[in-house]
Amino acid sequence: FHTLRLILGDQLNANHSWFKQTDSGVLYLIAELHSEAHYVKHHIQKVTAFFLAMQGFADALQQAGHQVCHLTLDDTKGLSLTELLTQQADKIGAQTIQLQRPDEYRLLSQLEGFQSTTSLQVEWFDTEHFLLPFAEIPTHFKAKHSVRMEHFYRKMRKRFDVLMTEEGPEGGQWNYDANNRNKLKKQDLADIPQPLCFQHPVDDIVARLHQHQVPCFGQIGSHLSWPVTRREAHQLLDYFCQHLLVNFGRFQDAMTDQSEHAWSLYHSRLSFALNSKLIHPMTVIQAAVSQFHQDPQIDLAQIEGFVRQILGWREYVRGMYWINMPDYRQQNALDAQRDLPEYFWTGETKMNCLSQAIHQSLDFAYAHHIQRLMVTGNFCLLTGIEPQQVDDWYLGIYIDAIEWVELPNTRGMSQFADGGWIASKPYAASGSYMNKMSDYCTSCHYKVKEKTGEQACPLNSLYWRFMVKHRDWLSKNPRIGMIYGNWDKQTPDQRQAVLDRADWCLQEIESL
Ligand code: FAD
Repeated sequence: FHTLRLILGDQLNANHSWFKQTDSGVLYLIAELHSEAHYVKHHIQKVTAFFLAMQGFADALQQAGHQVCHLTLDDTKGLSLTELLTQQADKIGAQTIQLQRPDEYRLLSQLEGFQSTTSLQVEWFDTEHFLLPFAEIPTHFKAKHSVRMEHFYRKMRKRFDVLMTEEGPEGGQWNYDANNRNKLKKQDLADIPQPLCFQHPVDDIVARLHQHQVPCFGQIGSHLSWPVTRREAHQLLDYFCQHLLVNFGRFQDAMTDQSEHAWSLYHSRLSFALNSKLIHPMTVIQAAVSQFHQDPQIDLAQIEGFVRQILGWREYVRGMYWINMPDYRQQNALDAQRDLPEYFWTGETKMNCLSQAIHQSLDFAYAHHIQRLMVTGNFCLLTGIEPQQVDDWYLGIYIDAIEWVELPNTRGMSQFADGGWIASKPYAASGSYMNKMSDYCTSCHYKVKEKTGEQACPLNSLYWRFMVKHRDWLSKNPRIGMIYGNWDKQTPDQRQAVLDRADWCLQEIESL
């Protein structure tokens, strides 16, 4: 072999130009590595999904006539990525190593370090996955500066001609977010479709993870339900277009504990398939837009909401990540220092919203955007949990968590630790938001209407404590300033009682 080509676990793009031709002098290397499985503690479904998808990709390449070396943990034992590359190149006599540019800073640093010390020829390629070319990131983003998603999104809509007419955006508006904030009513619950789940046996991989002492958490049965091949990714996309898109935007922010399908609702659950690159973002966008044009029941607010997530948010957070790394990882603008409570690993808390979101995450390695942002994220924001611990939790628990997308969403959008590069204001909410968007409060131990007293919803006092603590700079924000009117109307005693209750909640945070 003259060339060794590395394929990382999130580089499973079968349409990559590497695979257009077969070459008997090229060996593809796909390897399970201990170091990749435990740089944070991961949900067992996440590691399993990546290992299964890598195995499936290796098999598919082999069937297509390529030369493939697929190594499991049994083969790679304690090797680091760069040790593995050196060992394998040596073994096959390759002089050249070809790499696709990793999407994670951590891996890029490792591979650049390898390049600077090896005598082998190292050549770099694009992953051919994202819509915005990597080289153009500095044109759209500026380091340590706020860049608004909406401006970027409009440029992307025009550039890729998605939902555009000659006059401008389809329907005359760029954004239909205001139509997309419905709560699920009782009569809506029975209509929630069953999620499409796959059935991959996992016993072998789980045994391997145990044998090699890869630290994991969360539930896994004998089967994994996530898509791990390109074919399955397409099946999930078709299912979404046919059954879920019609209500995607409408119930995008809704939460319930009253349905067995509460965890999936109308979400696509395509994030793992997208982030491992089993499916291309434009394939997803085009399929959804084409369904919208065929099906009169799907209105513009649904498809626009969906397109915005992929053409807008997904590409935007990647730009924000790369323009701000490695500094992004150090940001802690609100000086948050508290430890993450133990119940983030067990779900055992009396706050029903938190308990539902965490239990569901432990069961499925999945929570939808508003559960991540407004339930777990909001709680960490209000209580001032140290951002590194928050990041590690999100990076470990979600099936789709890869740092380029996890970090800007967590540290930026949800924790405001970047001081506003991503969000124009902190996503801070009291219990009334939870009550508006979910039915969680109905069966909660705490009372959502109360701010003080033993049974008052902790979010209420914690919210006001947060607002008072950061009043100096928050009151200057035109989107927030007026909220303080409500606070100022209270008597000093009332205000003190709320702050006392918040202090108590913080002291007793582990027993909430
Ligand atoms: P859908 O609701 O069906 O949306 C469709 C697709 O849009 C998603 O698959 C995803 O690719 C994209 N998308 C939607 N919102 C975002 C967003 N804010 N940023 C980037 N892409 C988006 N997403 C990840 O892929 N990986 C993460 O590690 C991750 N961490 C997050 C952490 C926090 C604190 C928050 C608030 C959000 C995070 N997100 C992350 C974004 C979002 O929550 C998930 O993409 C989404 O829940 C995945 O489920 P889905 O595929 O059913 O999405």
